[in-house]
Amino acid sequence: MVAAWRAMPDEREAQGGLRKYDEVSPITASREEIEQAVQDADLPALLAALAMITADETLIADDLRPPTPPMGASIKGQGGMSDEAQAKARSLAVRAIVAYRDRGSPSPEVPDAAWLNRIMRFMTKDAGDDYLPLLSSELGLPRDMGAPDWRKEDLAPGRDFSVAVIGAGLSGVAAAHRLSQSGVSFTVFERSEDVGGVWWANRYPGCRLDTPNFAYSLSFAQRQDWPQQFSRQSEIQSYIAEVTRLAHLRPHIRFGVEVTGLTWDEAAAVWRLSIREADGSRSERRFNAVISAVGQLSQPSIPEIEGLDGFKGRWFHSAQWPADIDVKGKRVAVIGAGASAYQIVPSIVDEVDALRVFQRNPPWMLPTPTYHDDIKPGMAWLLRHIPYYGRWFRFWQFWIAAEGRLPSVQVEKDWKHPVSVGRANERLRQECMAHLEAQLTDRPDLLEKLTPNYPPGAKRMLRDNGVWTAALKRPHAQLITEPLARIEGDAIVTADGERHEVDVIVFATGFLASDYLHPMKVIGREGRDLHEWWAGDCRAYLGVVIPGFPNLFMSCGPNTGVVVNGSAIFSAECAVKYATSAIGEMLAKGYSAIDCRMEPFEAFNRRVDAENLTKSWGVATVSSWYRNAAGRASQTWPFSLLEYWRVTQSADMGDFVLTKAG
Ligand code: NAP
Repeated sequence: MVAAWRAMPDEREAQGGLRKYDEVSPITASREEIEQAVQDADLPALLAALAMITADETLIADDLRPPTPPMGASIKGQGGMSDEAQAKARSLAVRAIVAYRDRGSPSPEVPDAAWLNRIMRFMTKDAGDDYLPLLSSELGLPRDMGAPDWRKEDLAPGRDFSVAVIGAGLSGVAAAHRLSQSGVSFTVFERSEDVGGVWWANRYPGCRLDTPNFAYSLSFAQRQDWPQQFSRQSEIQSYIAEVTRLAHLRPHIRFGVEVTGLTWDEAAAVWRLSIREADGSRSERRFNAVISAVGQLSQPSIPEIEGLDGFKGRWFHSAQWPADIDVKGKRVAVIGAGASAYQIVPSIVDEVDALRVFQRNPPWMLPTPTYHDDIKPGMAWLLRHIPYYGRWFRFWQFWIAAEGRLPSVQVEKDWKHPVSVGRANERLRQECMAHLEAQLTDRPDLLEKLTPNYPPGAKRMLRDNGVWTAALKRPHAQLITEPLARIEGDAIVTADGERHEVDVIVFATGFLASDYLHPMKVIGREGRDLHEWWAGDCRAYLGVVIPGFPNLFMSCGPNTGVVVNGSAIFSAECAVKYATSAIGEMLAKGYSAIDCRMEPFEAFNRRVDAENLTKSWGVATVSSWYRNAAGRASQTWPFSLLEYWRVTQSADMGDFVLTKAG
């Protein structure tokens, strides 16, 4: 193995076992084999990786620069490079790889920031200087910028200080790793028996990513051998488990233990955690600070339907798919047509006897022909052998989606169209419609039912490789748009009085996203009950901190969901960075409590609310988890990724009411 980290011993130490992700195997392949592999390469990322290890400027010459056209409904291959540029890139890449092989595949040095910036500018064309620090942070080179730049033993060696992390999904693992790097004592509470969060819970057939996988990974644990660009649930789950093991986090996690409540103790300046232990007994633990990493989409939402309790068959939520259920030969109803239903329906259609899909609103689908494809063999070979190629490929996926489709959801004031909200939104609508129409030329009835009457981006857009319409076209499948009325014995009865007899009902009906932190009871300063105070409208400052609830930090909190650009991992890592920075300040300055002031909280929420109204999800009235019962977009981040990154890099103590430790 070639250990990619040859420089920077401190960095190596801090990364611990996670260095594994940067190891590649020495090259012994023939020139012909290398040429073959390069045919499958993602070229912009390959040129960048080779430029990095060879310092050869010809690999990042202007005529090879990917034009990266603005993102439409689908992503252009090779960043839109011309055929000539691609041919030249392949030939230069083969030459560079052969030369690297002939030098014995040495471990490269990590180059200086100036050379890395050159390469990043080549990849990104017009990313301004302001963007480069964010991109460098995502690349994780020349150093891991998300790591705290302080150690507890240096700031407050004698101070007794501990942090509770609630949840061991991706954001909980990120928080735990950063706390571990800082040397602060911490305990993670996870109600399930293993790490993974939503990826542990959601085991329904067909569960997989719908965000490109390399970008959907932690910046400090950049796995290089993803088998697909949109991997399956089991792969993501294994990754989270592996990161936890490699970063030595497991001993800090208490599995099967649920935090049921948090109460702020003013006199002691600690949070008292009410805990349900794995054996059902109750206990209490005290922590100076809490990072909630419970996620946005973890509490299943099941509609109240008359007669459900008397249903004669089995019913369950998509996120609680029973291990012992066999749908083979059964008549199955799937209620909902969102992201989960979209994956379940094509996966079970061949097994079931009859399939009835109950849809209220059809989803918008982005053409993604490669959605289920494996990483091509040549690409996989390159990822195994070219140092940092995986990092640059992740970087590239991150960059092309960075502000991604944000312009395509922009509301234009004078735009008059019954569905779309602006020119770019209309272009996106037409592209998606053309893709849908092409699949349904033989089924005008289905086309009518599957045509959304709300603007693209107003709710989660799905990835389409044709499997959804193919499943719905099957003779034993039926798409029902009539509203549900009740359940009678073994049948779902729709508003038109029709009885649909079924053996199994799958509720793919989403999550209680706006009941953030539910069902924990959270009592802050002066006995303030958080959920009463929110009154169904969760808000926070930067999505992380809430006035009256000192020393409590949230990741994936209110208004942090990046829904057409980036991924939830990005915002989770930003929130964790903010939380660890605030904890560092508490230790450095001797604060026992830091409590967000009302003024920045209110100003932030006013700004976010105003900007959300300029996006399709802010003005459309279609139901979605982006908005709460009052119609406010309480989950979405409407600005750029760059802005969220900037505001979360360090906590400004001017935004807090500060209490000194006595
Ligand atoms: P969802 O997108 O919220 O979809 C819920 C579906 O259930 C919608 O079709 C909704 O209809 C329908 N529904 C809700 N209440 C209903 C009722 N009372 N009667 C009839 N239909 C009802 O939920 P989801 O599919 O579980 O996905 C939630 C989110 O999880 C996604 O948006 C995505 O962010 C994430 N997710 C990600 C992946 C992935 O990465 N692969 C996979 C699954 C989920 P309306 O549209 O009319 O509201």
